[in-house]
Amino acid sequence: MHVVVLGAGYAGLGLTKRLESSLPSDVDLTLVDESPDHLVQHELHRVIRRPGVANEIRLSLPGALERATARVARVEAIDRDERVVSLSDGRLEYDIAAICLGARTAYYGLEGVPEHGIPLKRLSHARQIRKRAREALRADDGGRIVVGGAGLSGVQVAGELAALAREEYGSASIALLEQRARVAPEFPENFGRAVERALEDDGIEIRTGATVTGADADGVRLESGERLPFDLLVWTGGIRGADALEGERPTVEADLRLDDRTFALGDAARVVDAAGEAVPASAQAAVREARTAAENVERLVDARRNGGEAVDPDLEAFRFESPGWVVSVGDEAVATVGSRVLTGRPARALKASVGLGYLSSVGDPGSVAGFAAREFLSERFRRDR
Ligand SMILES: Cc1cc2nc3c(=O)[nH]c(=O)nc-3n(C[C@H](O)[C@H](O)[C@H](O)COP(=O)(O)OP(=O)(O)OC[C@H]3O[C@@H](n4cnc5c(N)ncnc54)[C@H](O)[C@@H]3O)c2cc1C
Repeated sequence: MHVVVLGAGYAGLGLTKRLESSLPSDVDLTLVDESPDHLVQHELHRVIRRPGVANEIRLSLPGALERATARVARVEAIDRDERVVSLSDGRLEYDIAAICLGARTAYYGLEGVPEHGIPLKRLSHARQIRKRAREALRADDGGRIVVGGAGLSGVQVAGELAALAREEYGSASIALLEQRARVAPEFPENFGRAVERALEDDGIEIRTGATVTGADADGVRLESGERLPFDLLVWTGGIRGADALEGERPTVEADLRLDDRTFALGDAARVVDAAGEAVPASAQAAVREARTAAENVERLVDARRNGGEAVDPDLEAFRFESPGWVVSVGDEAVATVGSRVLTGRPARALKASVGLGYLSSVGDPGSVAGFAAREFLSERFRRDR
């Protein structure tokens, strides 16, 4: 029997590591990713200001695995009827598959935005943003930065750019655009409001209810007719499904199954949990979904080995219970724990612990040590401002 996991992000790597210990040893397990490294995406914005962070948030896949085979190839298509994955370098047959391909940046057909806006999904994007931001900030009349989209990535990018400007150049004009009524609209209101305050304290102009209709080389157009000039446009305005899923993010219910042999989880899918709630696309949710998916793959493998095709086992239902949310805003952080909002040192400590906890669960000791040293020993952590 062959289980394949497509995509080695939070969902895919977490699922594979669990299956390594729970599946019988005669079940083959393959993890496919187009990159040889796992990227700790929720810290990616840090690379804009601290390029060295790249070494801490990129983990070699073979090093992270024990018995699963890591295959570096691009998933081109998935034939669920034939149970065959077409890869850039061949094909892969499977008995059970989990689609964990994450999401790509969505541009919603907005004219000029893909050409002139830089997304943030990869290390190369973070480096490109850094380069362009520093060029813009150096120019006498420059320093006008627009970030389109105020989800988890947009707010953290804006915070990082404001801190970069402060550290290296004094100041900049940074505007964060959000189509909906507040920042972090997919997340609890108390969290969104607290993040908004932290961004404003950082001098970032927040424009909610601002719908982008297009962009050219030096300005974005808003639905209101206004044109906002920029030296740098970062686009974090939304996500769409993987190309191998034709850009779709298929909906899965609480058992995380797309069909009787295929699971979909993480950003790759729209997950509706056991309470009927839509689960926000996030690293936090992907990690938790991986636990349920691992349990369900194991039950399916067991049923197929013992009862043949006819058996459809009871599967665990995923219920998303979030302990809270935490983001960085430059050197600061904002967190919610239940209904409590944390800022200052407790929030910074929480943000650092979340990163450290995750890295220790997947990482090599070098990355954990580097991350811990930066987060806990840095001057900014000792200050309580
Ligand atoms: C800057 C930033 C900050 C964020 N901050 C937070 C935060 O504070 N908290 C939080 O919970 N979430 C945060 N997020 C969101 C979080 O990172 C995503 O929700 C999370 O990465 C989703 O996990 P995933 O496993 O579904 O997908 P991913 O982590 O994106 O992994 C998908 C994997 O699939 C691989 N892949 C994709 N297509 C192919 C293909 N065709 N063939 C082969 N391999 C492929 C990719 O290389 C990747 O390894 C942030 C995101 C960004 C960009």
